[in-house]
Amino acid sequence: MNWGSAFNSQGGKSAGNLKPGLTGIKHHYTMLYARKETAMEKLKLGISSCLLGHKVRYDGGHKYDSWLVETLGQYADYVPVCPEAGCGMSIPREALRLVGTKDDYRLITVKTGIDYTDQMLNYSAETIARLRQEQLCGYVFKSKSPSSGMERVKVYPLHGGAAGKTGVGIWAREFMRAFPLLPVEEEGRLHDPALRENFIERIFIMQRWWDMINSKPKAGDLVKFHTIHKYLIMAHSPQHYRELGKLVATVKQLPIKEVLDCYLELFDDGLQTQRHTQ
Ligand code: SF4
Repeated sequence: MNWGSAFNSQGGKSAGNLKPGLTGIKHHYTMLYARKETAMEKLKLGISSCLLGHKVRYDGGHKYDSWLVETLGQYADYVPVCPEAGCGMSIPREALRLVGTKDDYRLITVKTGIDYTDQMLNYSAETIARLRQEQLCGYVFKSKSPSSGMERVKVYPLHGGAAGKTGVGIWAREFMRAFPLLPVEEEGRLHDPALRENFIERIFIMQRWWDMINSKPKAGDLVKFHTIHKYLIMAHSPQHYRELGKLVATVKQLPIKEVLDCYLELFDDGLQTQRHTQ
């Protein structure tokens, strides 16, 4: 099922005069709030501060991203995080890079060789504890950063030589370990329409998930959640839909928390499976 056309056929705006990516957001927004009488609740998303235009980079600049701020920002309350400024480094500051091997690297200043790894790890642990209270629906990282990059960050060998794009920024790595099921993306990857659509889909579903969790769900609530998302998950993976159905069938025999945890993991895995097109 094409959810974009489903939105249009239900009376939504055509894509013609919308900014790129706005159609998908409007569709998911409608799905989320059409059944509610309450005013719009924005999605809560973590984000690298510099993408919002905050001047926190090592050179005192920013990396303002107009789509994130002006388009997705209409639907999001951002929780900005700059791990380098947050852990006590100055603005401006000396540039950093990852140094070591692909499996074991440190966060080191480029010219003076000061190791900030432990400082960053301490900050990460404190910030993750704080963010657990926020019920984030997702996070957008700044690409290539030795602190915030989500993948393919350069790692320089200790004794010189060419860098390999094998690292993950120290903060991004700790965050993703702490929140393995949270949708995460980098600003650069969100320029790809398919990746952007998938991210939008997942963050709106995460919002619905938090809504359900906050209502202290009973077995019937999970059944309802499963029913509402039947066609969505089938569009990605009929196999996941079948497995989720079997899991939902156990909801009265097992502790609900256990079933919910397994359900979210399997559901999210299904959403990351490429859609089937007929
Ligand atoms: S990439 Fe991360 S650490 Fe660097 S300025 Fe942006 S938010 Fe701060």
